[in-house]
Amino acid sequence: MAAEKIPYKIYLSEDELPRTWYNVRADMKTKPAPLLNPATGAPMGYDDLRPVFCDELIRQELDNDTREIPIPTEIRDFYKMYRPAPLVRAYCLEERLGTPAKIYYKFEGNNTSGSHKLNSAIAQAYYAKQQGLKGVTTETGAGQWGTALSMACAYLGLDCKVYMVKVSYEQKPFRREVMRVYGASVTPSPSETTEVGRKILAEHPGTTGSLGCAISEAVEAATKTPGYRYVLGSVLNQVLLHQSVIGCEAKTALDKYGVKPDIIIGCAGGGSNLGGLISPFMGEKLRGERDYRFIAVEPASCPSLTRGRFAYDFCDTGAVCPLAKMYTLGSNFIPSANHAGGLRYHGMSPVLSQLYHDGYMEAVSVEQTRVFEAAEQFARIEGILPAPESSHAIRVAIDEALRCKETGEEKTILFGLTGTGYFDMVAYEKFHDGKMTDYIPSDEELQASFARLPKVPGQA
Ligand SMILES: *Cc1c(COP(=O)(O)O)cnc(C)c1O
Repeated sequence: MAAEKIPYKIYLSEDELPRTWYNVRADMKTKPAPLLNPATGAPMGYDDLRPVFCDELIRQELDNDTREIPIPTEIRDFYKMYRPAPLVRAYCLEERLGTPAKIYYKFEGNNTSGSHKLNSAIAQAYYAKQQGLKGVTTETGAGQWGTALSMACAYLGLDCKVYMVKVSYEQKPFRREVMRVYGASVTPSPSETTEVGRKILAEHPGTTGSLGCAISEAVEAATKTPGYRYVLGSVLNQVLLHQSVIGCEAKTALDKYGVKPDIIIGCAGGGSNLGGLISPFMGEKLRGERDYRFIAVEPASCPSLTRGRFAYDFCDTGAVCPLAKMYTLGSNFIPSANHAGGLRYHGMSPVLSQLYHDGYMEAVSVEQTRVFEAAEQFARIEGILPAPESSHAIRVAIDEALRCKETGEEKTILFGLTGTGYFDMVAYEKFHDGKMTDYIPSDEELQASFARLPKVPGQA
């Protein structure tokens, strides 16, 4: 059997690390819709975005045409400290499931931040440094993005201010301390340090915060501090571009052995890991060269693709950010009781939203107890303790493999294992103690949120 020649781990050499990021927008017939100015409804161009974002990152954000964008040597050198990331053939899992399916996963948890977010953090910090800026601001919910950005800023000697959702700040002191090891200043949000923070605190005393609030505070801090810009860890086109390093490596590794995946699966919060993983494969599909099934997996508690509206919406709760056209649950929607912090976002990448709308991608939602069942099964068989976010992809990969067992089909499945779950033991504890719940929002709840979507000229 040819498959026996494939090792458990397919490593690439340093030299095989991609030299360019792949911009899937170049191959999309319908491009993602532009960001709009919330005040005027006009598309936001380079000059409009300059007060908030770094110059080169705006160019990447707006570039729908350049297919290959060179990875600067300094970024590629940083990547070499933890990349190329291994592509693992899950032989043990296949055997235990008794499936004829062949399962591969791309493991991105092999760095201190514990997730794929470092791939974009180093790129964003690099362009800020190159522009001569003093520092960057950002928000973090569960803490993976804040940690990744702190690491990147420490490496480049940039100042890093992180607004951390207050409830996480208090419940995840270890994440906070990791950021401080890397020199970041971490402020629980909402805080007294910004106007929007003071306003929110006055209106909602004792609030434990939300990602939307923290974004509003980080944007204000960036625009009011000379020499600072705001950076974001997901959703934006530029972040998907940087994350294409995941898919490019995976494709190079599979091509070495002549392996063609049939199904590619990833969890979807803001869409950056999934977008990055599928990009080069999606390019082939868009160009009509090869067909693949792409599956986005989201939590049933925050189902933006499967139950959301494709409409212009705010990226933050404070409504200070531009409007993006995306699948959204409404920027006022606050997802409850879900332990995959990285998947608790009301919207979705405009690139993935457009691809999904045009029928190039599927989406499913899964309940969290089934996700943790899959996480634990995976940990016990493959050894890695997965992040709750990543475990959404594991769940659906296992479901597809079991389907192959029923039908006898020898499908090849590739999924993204985005990170490790060491800081998520409270969630695992709830699961073990039988205290985990499966919250699913009602149609009424979603309708109420959709009713508050912003009115944009030309939109129904
Ligand atoms: C942030 C995060 C995600 C979700 O973010 P995307 O932008 O959708 O990729 C998934 N897994 C892990 C481990 C994360 O930290």
